[in-house]
Amino acid sequence: MNKLTIVKAENLKAKPDSDHLGFGQYFTDHMLVMDYTEGKGWHDPSIVPYGPIALDPSAMVFHYGQEVFEGMKAYKTAEGQFSLFRPDMNLKRLNISCERMSIPQVDPELLLDGITQLVSLDKDWIPEGEDTSLYIRPFIIATEPCLGVRAAKQYKLLVILSPVGSYYPEGIHPVSIFVEDEYVRAVRGGTGMAKTSGNYASGIRAQEIAKLEGFSQVLWLDGVEKKYIEEVGSMNVFFKIGGEVITPELSGSILAGVTRDSVMTLLRSWGIQVIERKISVAELFEAAREGKLEEAFGTGTAAVISPIGTMKWGEEQIAVAGGQTGEISKKLYDSITGIQKGVLEDPFGWRNIIV
Ligand SMILES: *Cc1c(COP(=O)(O)O)cnc(C)c1O
Repeated sequence: MNKLTIVKAENLKAKPDSDHLGFGQYFTDHMLVMDYTEGKGWHDPSIVPYGPIALDPSAMVFHYGQEVFEGMKAYKTAEGQFSLFRPDMNLKRLNISCERMSIPQVDPELLLDGITQLVSLDKDWIPEGEDTSLYIRPFIIATEPCLGVRAAKQYKLLVILSPVGSYYPEGIHPVSIFVEDEYVRAVRGGTGMAKTSGNYASGIRAQEIAKLEGFSQVLWLDGVEKKYIEEVGSMNVFFKIGGEVITPELSGSILAGVTRDSVMTLLRSWGIQVIERKISVAELFEAAREGKLEEAFGTGTAAVISPIGTMKWGEEQIAVAGGQTGEISKKLYDSITGIQKGVLEDPFGWRNIIV
């Protein structure tokens, strides 16, 4: 592995208005690139001006989707430092995804060093407003020009950065959910536990139909029986039923979210019982009918906590927490963003100061 080289952009772009960032619409001045060639390994890591890349039309990623990605965030803390949130978890998961997709492993330390240098170089892009951060998107694509169906021998890793506002334009507020019982996102033995593009491509149709019906996200059921709850949109999901919190156990078709892990750790530290187990949509609706479903929320890096206000399954529609943001949802959101921004103590060592 050779040393990271840096080519600085000659003209820096104008920064967007931090009140209207949206999600993933603006990109910073630089990006990290690194290539892999069979026999040589990962080589020539470099930070270069952000811009289009040239690929052969036969590059394997275009045909068979051999790709993995990650999503993490950098924050400006209350003391004016810059931090990442649990980056070790993301880099570990990147390699889990790589293994599933037959993509060569990446040295996590080397990649973290590259990301740190990239974020430092573009640190003026880290927005300061409430609910804002710098979203970091590492991804790897198969670049070998070949139409054979097999693992590629050449890859490109890139890291791009995007200043983002709140995932939902309205900020933290309850969303409406459509329980999807026709299409499935993933099956056991498939690629649901990997962050890979195909999972999202196959989920877009259900998402579109739900949008047309006036819902903001889809609740995914297991691919075999279409009975057990798996995830919500591209988030993990939690339910508070009769005082305890339940989240679907990692079955192989569910992505192991970093936010999911942080939420379980926080809840347990507050003395709230968290159970990872199978939960069927029938059980969930039954609990709602009996008035025992106290809260429901999705968790993910992009939205952090996304409270669920209503859910529709077949002909039945239920309201959760009276359509309001529940107490635990709010406390989790404030705690995680507070730790990220350095406003709160960091008892678990999740904040990684980088500059
Ligand atoms: C990224 C992702 C999540 C959330 O993971 P975090 O590490 O918390 O951001 C959950 N489900 C899916 C399908 C995802 O792609």
